[in-house]
Amino acid sequence: MKTLVCSDIHANLEALESVLDVVEESGVDRIWCLGDIVGYGPDPNACVALVQQKAELVVPGNHDWAVIGQLDVADFNSDARSAVLWTREQLMPIHHDFLAALPVRQKLGHFTLLHGSPTHEIWEYIANAHIAAAQWQHFDTAICLHGHTHVPALFIRRESDGRTSRFAFPQEKPFPLPAGRALINPGSIGQPRDGDPRASFAIWDDEANTWTFHRVRYPIEITQRKMLQAGLPTRLALRLSYGW
Ligand code: ZN
Repeated sequence: MKTLVCSDIHANLEALESVLDVVEESGVDRIWCLGDIVGYGPDPNACVALVQQKAELVVPGNHDWAVIGQLDVADFNSDARSAVLWTREQLMPIHHDFLAALPVRQKLGHFTLLHGSPTHEIWEYIANAHIAAAQWQHFDTAICLHGHTHVPALFIRRESDGRTSRFAFPQEKPFPLPAGRALINPGSIGQPRDGDPRASFAIWDDEANTWTFHRVRYPIEITQRKMLQAGLPTRLALRLSYGW
C-alpha cells in the first residue's frame, strides 16, 4: 500500500491539485494530511473540501486553529494575520466545523501524526537536531510525521547510541529508513520554504518499506493572481515564486 503524506497546503488549490494528479498516476492508496490546510492562500474552502474528501487522517495546524478562533491572531506576523482574518471571512461554516473537529494528534500503527512537534502539537518548530532530540519521550510510536516548518526533513534517533541527527535523503528516489526512531516532515505543498518553489510531499510504500520525497511543479502564477485579486498581502504571493 502507498501512503501519501503531506502538510501545509495553505489554501493553494493549484499546488494541491498538482499533487493529487500524482496520486492518480502513482497508485497512492491513501492520504494523510498534517495540518495548515488554510491560511496564506486564496482557496480555503476548495482545499478543505478536497482534504475532507480525499484524506484518511487529518490533524490541524496553527493557521487552521487561528482561522477558527482557537488561537490568538496576535501571535502571528502581520502578513499571516491579514491572511487569517481574510480566511475567516471566506470560510464556510461546514469547513469551519470540519477544522474544529480535528484531533491535534492521531496514531495509527507505528505512526503518530501531528502538525508541529510531539511536545507542542500546534506551535513548536522542529527546525534542527537539537529540538528533534527533545521529542522522543513525547510520543510512543516508532515514527512521528509532522509539518509546520515548510522544509522537508528527516531526523533519526540511532538505535546504536541513541544520538539524534538529520538524515540526508535522496530526492525522487525510494530509500529505506535507517534503523531507529524517526521524525519525518514531508515539506509544504502550498508554500515551500527551502528555496524550491515546487510542491513538496512524501510517499511511504509499506510493501517495499521505502520512503520517497517528491517535488511537483504547479502553475504558481495562477495562485499568485488569485491572491492579488483577493487583496491578500503581495509579499505572500511573491514568495511562492522563490520558495521562501
Ligand atoms: Zn504552515
